[in-house]
Amino acid sequence: MEKAVLDCVIIGGGPAGLNAALVLGRARKKVLLFDDNQPRNAVVQESHGFITRDGISPKEFRSIAKTDISKYPSVQLREVRIKKVMKENHLFVVETEEGQHYHSRKLILATGLKDRLPTIDGIQALYGTSLFSCPFCDGWELRDKKLVVISESDHIHHYIKLIYNWSQDVVVCTNGKQLFDKEEKETLAKKGIQLYEQEIGKLVGDNGYLEKVIFKNGVEINREGGFVTTDLVQATNIAEKLGVPLMSDGQLEVADFGRTNVEGLFIAGDSANMFSAQLIIAASTGSKSALAVVAELVNEDF
Ligand SMILES: Cc1cc2nc3c(=O)[nH]c(=O)nc-3n(C[C@H](O)[C@H](O)[C@H](O)COP(=O)(O)OP(=O)(O)OC[C@H]3O[C@@H](n4cnc5c(N)ncnc54)[C@H](O)[C@@H]3O)c2cc1C
Repeated sequence: MEKAVLDCVIIGGGPAGLNAALVLGRARKKVLLFDDNQPRNAVVQESHGFITRDGISPKEFRSIAKTDISKYPSVQLREVRIKKVMKENHLFVVETEEGQHYHSRKLILATGLKDRLPTIDGIQALYGTSLFSCPFCDGWELRDKKLVVISESDHIHHYIKLIYNWSQDVVVCTNGKQLFDKEEKETLAKKGIQLYEQEIGKLVGDNGYLEKVIFKNGVEINREGGFVTTDLVQATNIAEKLGVPLMSDGQLEVADFGRTNVEGLFIAGDSANMFSAQLIIAASTGSKSALAVVAELVNEDF
């Protein structure tokens, strides 16, 4: 029996993959979207900054998206993890964790990123409730509060300026790292920002709400919330295995419309847009990749 060939497989059902599915469904393309339901923002109760959806829970966002997509019968969604993808004779062969294989002419990867938090006792319980990584996402909610900035990263200098935009009561903790020279320390002091370079022992809070930072030397400071820089890593190595270069900053190399060096493979969402990781931007890149997929399909088929 001849195998059924899909127009496009989408891996990842965050805003990028879901918007790609919507555009492809409306273009009458036969699509399967696979998602294993581990979104990057799963820890938060509210997402912000998406016009018409400001304050929506990530769960509700996905639920509305799936209702929108359900109007288009050529799109099917499957909740299953994709284990690997191969390219054989111009087709992508997608293998699920359960061992099923699907063949597709085009592939949109929208698998996103994972955040790795610094190893600090108590941090996980606070992340997503009073401790966040993106001030554009959650700065408004923490405005004018007593904040801590925890960062072991070289990006700390710009990060502090950003956080200072939302609250000027900021304490900076480098958790044992020496990230500032004399002049930079003087600038912080002039701004009234205290710098703690000693190692953090633990973060203490109640029900997700930060109360105290306790250092290993016994010093304690009271704080109401804060921001932490995370290490960002690709959620999957599927693109790399297909031959897409991973750049030194951790992003996948893509061209306009999410095109890659692998013919027929597109990358959308955070995976290729690490430094503008926002729901609305992820959705827009998913939409753009879908436009390019349709353009290629109609060119091939006309
Ligand atoms: C704590 C936190 C709060 C945030 N708050 C906001 C906010 O308020 N506003 C905002 O605009 N942005 C916010 N963001 C950023 C936002 O979450 C991302 O920009 C957005 O989710 C990226 O969308 P995406 O579609 O690229 O990836 P994701 O939303 O991460 O979706 C990727 C999907 O791919 C799936 N997947 C991965 N690998 C596989 C596989 N092998 N097989 C099947 N499925 C797979 C995952 O399960 C996941 O569902 C926040 C991020 C964090 C960490």
